[in-house]
Amino acid sequence: MDSLKPKIAIIGAGNVGSTFAFSLMISGLAREIVLIDKNSDLAIGECMDLNHGLSFAHPVRIHATGFEGCEDADIVVITAGANQKPNETRTDLVKKNVVIFKEIVPAIAKYAKDAILLVVTNPVDILTYVTLKLSGFPANRVIGSGTVLDTARLKYMISDYAQVDPNNIHGYIIGEHGDTELPVWSNATIGGMDIETYCSEYAKQGNARNELKEIFLKVKNSAYEIIKRKGATNYSIALSLVKITRAILRDENSILPVSTLVTDYYGVSDVCISIPSIVNIHGVAQYVKIDLSVEEQELFKHSANTLRGFIKAIELDLNDYPQSIQQSF
Ligand code: NAD
Repeated sequence: MDSLKPKIAIIGAGNVGSTFAFSLMISGLAREIVLIDKNSDLAIGECMDLNHGLSFAHPVRIHATGFEGCEDADIVVITAGANQKPNETRTDLVKKNVVIFKEIVPAIAKYAKDAILLVVTNPVDILTYVTLKLSGFPANRVIGSGTVLDTARLKYMISDYAQVDPNNIHGYIIGEHGDTELPVWSNATIGGMDIETYCSEYAKQGNARNELKEIFLKVKNSAYEIIKRKGATNYSIALSLVKITRAILRDENSILPVSTLVTDYYGVSDVCISIPSIVNIHGVAQYVKIDLSVEEQELFKHSANTLRGFIKAIELDLNDYPQSIQQSF
């Protein structure tokens, strides 16, 4: 069957993969969506359900396939993987997902040689690095969803506090998607004003500096709070993925804090980490050297060092992996 363009392949038809497929179908961005899951019944069932709503959406071919369905895909979005179990360390999770990625990334790369790979599975920065190494693709074509979601959460919570449209808030969370991420307050703005000054003058209550600090802590713990209540996060990540997909397919040059391989970024190299990046049809066309205060620079380096620690742990373990993977690191 000939591919319809643009074509997006989604690996993993769980909470995130299926919600992204639904959001993508509504967006009208894709002409073909492929769902691939080792639980083929799940992928088939999701496709059936999505297709039954097609007369209310834009024409798009949606079907479940094996990895051969990645052929000719413009973007392959990877949401497959294991989730962290109680009492399991993050290193254990990394190792478990590396084993899964060893299986899926070569299968994707075999069929989707020219695609952009968009990694979502956690820990997303480590797995973006792993995907880069396993695929052998150029760095611009291997992207992690990074802190795009965290930044959206920050904008929403500040908008609620300052009673302003989230689109008027400019600022980024950078670093690891996780515990060591940091907000770049030093150049965050609302309506052209420094964010703290704006909030001091216009927000409804409280000391702006303390409120903003509190908001960031809430952002950082958002996933835990949602997962505690409903078991997974799916809607906001799906919309974040639509935003990144749109920036790629429509060649928008959107500046997004995606996870990308950096070289000498404030002295940080050889790690995939979120920084504001220009996203277009080539993937990450370029990353932006945002001004960081001295304190932010230290926090960013700490975040990068934490990620490098995980990468080292995988490297030390490489004897357990097949030779081809050992060589690619
Ligand atoms: P889920 O368990 O609902 O779905 C994962 C799916 O992957 C399952 O359907 C499973 O069958 C499939 N799978 C596992 N191994 C596979 C393989 N070898 N080949 C094909 N399919 C395979 O999980 P979820 O809630 O959809 O979350 C998916 C991932 O996304 C998790 O790692 C989660 O932490 C991550 N996530 C990331 C962000 C972010 O901002 N980066 C946000 C939300 C979730």
